Amino acid sequence: MVTLSPLQEAENAVRNKELIVYYQPQYDAVTNKLVSAEALVRRRLPDGSIALPGSFVPAAEETDLIMEIDWNVLEQVCCFLKKRIDAGHRYVPIAVNFSRRHIGETDFLEKLCRTVDGYGVPRNLIEVEITESAMMDGAYDIVSFVDAVRKENFNVAIDDFGSGFSSLSLVKDISANVLKIDRSLLSGNCENEKERIVLESIFDFAHRLKLTTIAEGVETREQLGFLRTCGCQLIQGFLFAKPMPEEDFGEACSRRVLDEESEDILVSQAHANVRSLLMEAVFMKYPLVIMSNLTRNSFYMMAYENFSARTCPSTGVFDELIVHGTSTMHPDDRELFSTTFSRTNLLAAHARGEKFVKVVTRQIGDDGIYRPVETTDFFVKNPSVDDVLVITLCQNLSE
Ligand code: C2E
Ligand code: MG
Ligand code: MG
Repeated sequence: MVTLSPLQEAENAVRNKELIVYYQPQYDAVTNKLVSAEALVRRRLPDGSIALPGSFVPAAEETDLIMEIDWNVLEQVCCFLKKRIDAGHRYVPIAVNFSRRHIGETDFLEKLCRTVDGYGVPRNLIEVEITESAMMDGAYDIVSFVDAVRKENFNVAIDDFGSGFSSLSLVKDISANVLKIDRSLLSGNCENEKERIVLESIFDFAHRLKLTTIAEGVETREQLGFLRTCGCQLIQGFLFAKPMPEEDFGEACSRRVLDEESEDILVSQAHANVRSLLMEAVFMKYPLVIMSNLTRNSFYMMAYENFSARTCPSTGVFDELIVHGTSTMHPDDRELFSTTFSRTNLLAAHARGEKFVKVVTRQIGDDGIYRPVETTDFFVKNPSVDDVLVITLCQNLSE
């Protein structure tokens, strides 16, 4: 048996019409609605197995073959969208990956318009995805390229942002309207401070630049919880859905919302700079500060240097936080603590118009000593959402 080179394999895939498109849904981070998707190429081998792009895209990228692949994917996407539109089924915008090589393709724009218009698919249903690394390739005038694509009413996304040497200046100059945050930025599961600072800053500048933000490769609830606190708009990742064949995606599209209703949505916006300075002062007085969304049953620790730092997750489900907090209280105070801060009672207090809820309880430290602690839950309002939000400030009264 002759072994073929990766390039020959890629050529065979195209020639034998083995390329198919998988779709990975992108969900609205607040409503859990399926609002868009990314088209990802796959190769269906003669034995029926499915090969990932890693086995043929890199080789194709070395030559112009990749352009043929991308155009093929676009055709299949347009064909899918046209079928949905004609049948009166629900459809959403689809992002198509375009290799950097297209930037130097003289008739790229004309071909893009001709293909999409030819299917009668509205242009705003197609998003052109270009990787960040292509943007850094000095050989091409990426700024003009993106400008031209945007002028023809296509959306443009910067893919894999943060995976290479990201240039903030480029993001500023380029007229792309979507920023896809690379999953490498989530590698610490959003549980370490530095990772959070970097993510918060990226979302802050992206939103101020009016870019739609998509987090890629979201696999855990911790990542999801934190991304929501940053105001990340769309979520794409295995936690919600893997790339799937067209038929399955069609069904997911019609279903619209995730099967499993996710209960922990935290939608407060993060504001870097001034906020962090103010926080520094607050943390001096209150070593434990928690931001919670009662409506979505989620929380995120903004500061956590309490004397009782026993294994409590730094982000997650609010009800579980109260169970944990209760377990650290003096047995005689547990009832008071768990009733005062149960979600039901807090929501009732909020509905009665109370501004805050406060109790003093005895909490055990890591050293086994009980100290009086004042816990205050302030009801706060985020102008962009109706959810009931709470900031918890805890103060050790024995100091
Ligand atoms: P990409 O454009 O950044 O696509 C996202 C990749 O991340 C996909 O891999 C997807 O399956 C994977 N992914 C999504 N969510 C998760 C997650 O939660 N965890 C993990 N570990 N991975 C996740 P895939 O389909 O193997 O594609 C890999 C790359 O191949 C793509 O990265 C893209 O650069 C390239 N590619 C795929 N289709 C095309 C295409 O049609 N044209 C071009 N030029 N490149 C393509
Ligand atoms: Mg992509
Ligand atoms: Mg990507």
